[in-house]
Amino acid sequence: MLLRTLYLRRRGSGPPDNQEKEKREEALPTAEVFPRAVEHLSSAVQYPTVSGLEPGDSGSKEAEKAFAEFPGFLRNTYRRVFSELELEFPSERGMLLRWPGRDSAEKPVLFTAHYDVVPAADEQAAGTKTDSGTEGAAGEGWLFPPFSGIVTDEGWIWGRGTLDNKIGVISLLEAVESLLSEGFVPRTDIYFAFGGDEETKGKEGAGRIAAELERRGLEFRFLLDEGMVITRGFLPGMRKAAALIGVAEKGYVDLELTAEDTGGHSSMPPPRTALGRIASVLAQLESRKFPLRMTSVVRRTLEHLVPAVSFGTAFLLSNLWFFGPLVLRILDRDPTTSSLIRTTVAATMAQGSSKENVLPSRASAVLNIRILAGETVVSVLQRIKETAEKENVQVRYLNQDETDDPIESSSIEGEAYSLIADTVCSIFPDTLAVPFLMNGTTDSSKYRRVAKNIYRFTPVVLDRRDVGRIHGTNERLGSEALVQSIRFYQTILGRC
Ligand SMILES: [Zn+2]
Repeated sequence: MLLRTLYLRRRGSGPPDNQEKEKREEALPTAEVFPRAVEHLSSAVQYPTVSGLEPGDSGSKEAEKAFAEFPGFLRNTYRRVFSELELEFPSERGMLLRWPGRDSAEKPVLFTAHYDVVPAADEQAAGTKTDSGTEGAAGEGWLFPPFSGIVTDEGWIWGRGTLDNKIGVISLLEAVESLLSEGFVPRTDIYFAFGGDEETKGKEGAGRIAAELERRGLEFRFLLDEGMVITRGFLPGMRKAAALIGVAEKGYVDLELTAEDTGGHSSMPPPRTALGRIASVLAQLESRKFPLRMTSVVRRTLEHLVPAVSFGTAFLLSNLWFFGPLVLRILDRDPTTSSLIRTTVAATMAQGSSKENVLPSRASAVLNIRILAGETVVSVLQRIKETAEKENVQVRYLNQDETDDPIESSSIEGEAYSLIADTVCSIFPDTLAVPFLMNGTTDSSKYRRVAKNIYRFTPVVLDRRDVGRIHGTNERLGSEALVQSIRFYQTILGRC
């Protein structure tokens, strides 16, 4: 009802002029939002909404309880949001909120985040590498229990999900709550979709929400999901921090290699065992990698970096027509940058027989493959088959319905990208917004049919070590960073 009143009031007054907008942005709360938001994120972390390691598996009874209770926690915490926006649950693992705008006939905007988290056991996390390929907090145990949400005197909020991705859910809701309290009504409808199974592929959450939005014939002006962060020292000698805005996403497929044999006793082995053939295929794939290639997105990334790098590097990056092959070789030296310029193949699981003196009658290995634009799931399968079949090794999809072709780049020229980039610059001074290729997968891929322009970005400044804590041990977020994240969403929502 209140919303209707505000809606009518605002509709009459037309869009706020720039002066009014500036005033509102200047008046954005910082200190006063601080203690509330920190406490809210800390409480959110205390719900162990752990997605199991397998799709559809919620892991434990405790997790199931947490998933059931989490939406209620949000409703109690953000009363204004939940009384003034329209709420629905397209599935048990998906929440959808609609904030009606002044002009509901215009294309709406969609913000997404997820509230499930990966498990937090030490043995699972220690020594792992994150999806972005950055070094994890190897060997460290949790300093505080992972679901305690402890806030230390230095202002750190500790726990699983602080970064991935309860910061997204909490920051968005804090921002909307605060804008509602100022009487703000957005120009167009804004939707918020929160998934509860992103870490296990997102079928029940984002998948079902997207299907429902498509059924209604909705098409969004743009979508903003979680993604890369703001990082310093992205390239050696860089003078500014870089806000990496994901505009495209690599494809994904898991392939299983299998080799059959007669088995038998290992005291009389044949010249080649099933496991030996698998190993030979793996060795060949590692020595003959997919070719290096500079896609248009990576070219744009490098061009955007020019103003912030040393003269020598700027010269190389400004003349990619000539120095392209050299730049590719430089990028290939580091696994993080190498992943941007080729399809990567990682052997992750392997199996032979179950006893030391038994020859395997079946051996297998799994390849986790991230596909660069220009190739597809099918073309990658074909290439791997060519190598495998020479060794009499079979190749098949591990889960055929979990394969994804690369997602092409969203517009870098249009209004939506500029809106995100300008908001980055106003909240994070001395930061360069850079279009970027995501090499991990996010919920956003599920929304391909309802949004042509999809961007992935998490508005926090993180150093390499804190990035490594995502999916690792000792995940944490600084209170200041949380406030900046809220201010980012407040500003962008105010401009939508
Ligand atoms: Zn995530």
